[in-house]
Amino acid sequence: MFDNLTTKFQKVFRHLKGHGKLTEENIQEALREVRLALLEADVHYKVAKDFVKTIAQRAVGQEVMGSLTPGQQVIKIVNEALTDLMGGTAVPLDLTGPPPQVIVLVGLQGSGKTTTAGKLAFHLSKNKRRPCLVPADVYRPAAIDQLTTLAGQLKMPVYPSSSDQKPEHIVRDAVSFARQHQCDTLIVDTAGRLHIDQELMDELKRIEAVVKPQEMLLVADAMTGQDAVRVASSFHEALHITGVVLTKLDGDARGGAALSIKAVTGCPIKFVGVGEKLDALEVFHPDRMSSRILGMGDVLTIIEKAQDAFDEREAEEMARKFKEDSFTLEDFRDQLRQVKKLGSLESILKMLPGMGIMKELKKMEVDEKALVRTEAIINSMTRQERQNAGIINASRKRRIARGSGTTVQEVNQLLRSYNDARRMMRQMMGGGKATKKGKKKK
Ligand code: GDP
Repeated sequence: MFDNLTTKFQKVFRHLKGHGKLTEENIQEALREVRLALLEADVHYKVAKDFVKTIAQRAVGQEVMGSLTPGQQVIKIVNEALTDLMGGTAVPLDLTGPPPQVIVLVGLQGSGKTTTAGKLAFHLSKNKRRPCLVPADVYRPAAIDQLTTLAGQLKMPVYPSSSDQKPEHIVRDAVSFARQHQCDTLIVDTAGRLHIDQELMDELKRIEAVVKPQEMLLVADAMTGQDAVRVASSFHEALHITGVVLTKLDGDARGGAALSIKAVTGCPIKFVGVGEKLDALEVFHPDRMSSRILGMGDVLTIIEKAQDAFDEREAEEMARKFKEDSFTLEDFRDQLRQVKKLGSLESILKMLPGMGIMKELKKMEVDEKALVRTEAIINSMTRQERQNAGIINASRKRRIARGSGTTVQEVNQLLRSYNDARRMMRQMMGGGKATKKGKKKK
């Protein structure tokens, strides 16, 4: 996700790290590169321009804080500005009020509406709701079949629509169907078109008038970049869109849509699709997304996923270690082993702080082989070395490389990744160097 953008940002920050002090000149240079990186990622040009202006205003005249280097300070400012750009905080679905609540999914053909309907049903059922699926795309019988199949997999009720019904009649009747089946939420999948046209908008308006949905979510394909932003604007002008679901973020989307949609349309992104499977939907958290884009990982999402995959005690232990900065190379190795349990390896690795950097350093694909090599290096260390990486000197490195069939250079790379990971975790958990002591006193 957004690999290029991450690489570019890291280059800017690395460059700044080399300077002891922020000067007008190096800030200007960094800002120029940030702007180019955003434009290359297909961010709307006006959004990119305003973004750089915001950063410039925040960076200039900043007191240098004792605990941060100038480079870190710029990372902090960019992180906050990116978070603001994407809406600041997560905007949850508003499903208060008497049931059944109605969620209507709209969007162009192929954007991922039907898949998202299934994912959303799965997400809501995990949150103790009882959804019912409603196929209202009467022009494509295959779409009705697709949703019916998904409902079967999820063991959820599906309204038996037929292609000779009018969509607005389907949704009207589906409301009483939902009541009969004790469902508290209807998820309506509507028809799409290849392009926006008046006929489609009129149909969606009729549906809107009949059921007055609590949520009308636009499903947009992140891979289409600025087109997704234009589509969101048009739908938002014609209908009362309450949020966006940005799909296919697992592909090689450049980031333009995710970064521009809120700023251009005012509509918050509520969810992102990160795969074709039913569990590949994530609540959109601007701060976590910003952290991922900057290559700082997304520890909170991993912890949530871990809570799903492991028992709670294990997940809490991991969170405690992150917080207390007592994360050793053994934990690093355990993390590698555990990520295999967490689903798509590639997507999870990108959420680990430092992993993005490791990938870039080695100029390699993150693959099973790389994991095996990393694990072999850590296995060749003594227990003492794993607990305290600081003691690993040149002769120890040579021994470790020999033992693991790797090179000293590879051992160095691993140690650098590990140190980067620890440093970023400290930053992300909001702790300065002093927090550990402070906590102990309490
Ligand atoms: P619709 O025409 O809007 O209903 O789109 P579909 O739900 O049929 O999805 C179109 C294609 O996109 C299908 O092949 C889906 O599997 C795929 N798709 C949907 N969401 C995602 C996603 O988040 N990631 C990936 N990789 N594929 C997706």
